[in-house]
Amino acid sequence: MTSSASTFEHGSPSATTTRLSVDLGALAENWRKMRDLSGSARCGAAVKANAYGTGADRVAPRLAREGCRDFFVADANEAAALRPLLPDARIYVLNGVFEGSFAQTLAHDLIPIINSPEQAAFWCANADGRAYALHIDTGMNRMGLTPEEAAAHSQGSAPPPCLVMSHFACADDPDHPLNQEQIKLFDSIRPCFSGIEASLANSGGIFLGSAPHHDLTRPGIALYGGDPVSDVPNRMRTVVTAQTRVLVIRNAKAGQTVSYGAAHTLTRDSRIAVCGVGYADGFHRNGSGAGVPLRSAVPQGAFGAINGTRIPVIGKITMDLTMFDVTDLPDGAVNAGDWVELLGPTVSLEQAATAAGTISYELLTSLGQRHARSYVD
Ligand SMILES: *Cc1c(COP(=O)(O)O)cnc(C)c1O
Repeated sequence: MTSSASTFEHGSPSATTTRLSVDLGALAENWRKMRDLSGSARCGAAVKANAYGTGADRVAPRLAREGCRDFFVADANEAAALRPLLPDARIYVLNGVFEGSFAQTLAHDLIPIINSPEQAAFWCANADGRAYALHIDTGMNRMGLTPEEAAAHSQGSAPPPCLVMSHFACADDPDHPLNQEQIKLFDSIRPCFSGIEASLANSGGIFLGSAPHHDLTRPGIALYGGDPVSDVPNRMRTVVTAQTRVLVIRNAKAGQTVSYGAAHTLTRDSRIAVCGVGYADGFHRNGSGAGVPLRSAVPQGAFGAINGTRIPVIGKITMDLTMFDVTDLPDGAVNAGDWVELLGPTVSLEQAATAAGTISYELLTSLGQRHARSYVD
């Protein structure tokens, strides 16, 4: 692919009122940063949930080109879709294996991450010694064998796993005591699996220093431009930018109301940019300027930007349309047909997520299907 080439995946770029661009070069740079921070550990990639909404079919091969060989997805269907694009990679299935996914797992040469004694018994009875990974729960009470169950597994007749792993509950908070407890507990169980590769760190875990790096790291959010640590200046490059088209500029009088429920009353004569994006596109209704419960707790609603100047959402975000207050912009500075930034250099992923009462992960994975998508590299 030539540098700065841009290809539209679906949707006519001229007809759309909302568009997304994914910067594969920035993604690759983020991966190299995670790789370098991982020291001597191999750096993998979490590409579950369609690579956090960015498009696994484009993202995974791009990371493979950078040298990534270990990919993590949630289920066997996600893995099966990636296998033709990643013929030589190890593809791990985080949700493990069960009767209904067994055939897929074998057919696509997937590595199930065994999450319970039942999954272990099922795999070892049926898989003819094929490779599997073993998840050990060290404090999250979500997936994985307890340390006691893992120790028992290691002493039983089952063939050994190719990888043992665990997952942090609080890696977004480097000072949380559970991080060090999980590192210690994981290290205490590893002698049961001597000579077997180990993996603990997600994006946040990679930033905790070398103790949890072991043999393989599993970054996700950092690759897609989210800083994995809460409340710090973002250290990753922006990967996803989103924009919406101004459809109509309208003038309204002080005292009139805007959008559903008449929840926002104008305090001055106002100029309003009506834009073609809404909650169906993942521009969450909780980001409304007024009229949703979140606004009583967090007064500031979501905002967009025009040429680096922030413009606030006013009234409720609707399914397909959102209103922005552009009264403070100079006359003629914004016109029908202009593009408003929703995510990008002025509106960070974290700010957009906070305004909507959620986190970067949920914001990315809830981006809708209507955007015209393009990929640049
Ligand atoms: C999603 C996930 C990751 C990646 O986590 P990030 O916080 O996005 O880096 C790693 N490991 C497991 C088990 C996961 O579920």
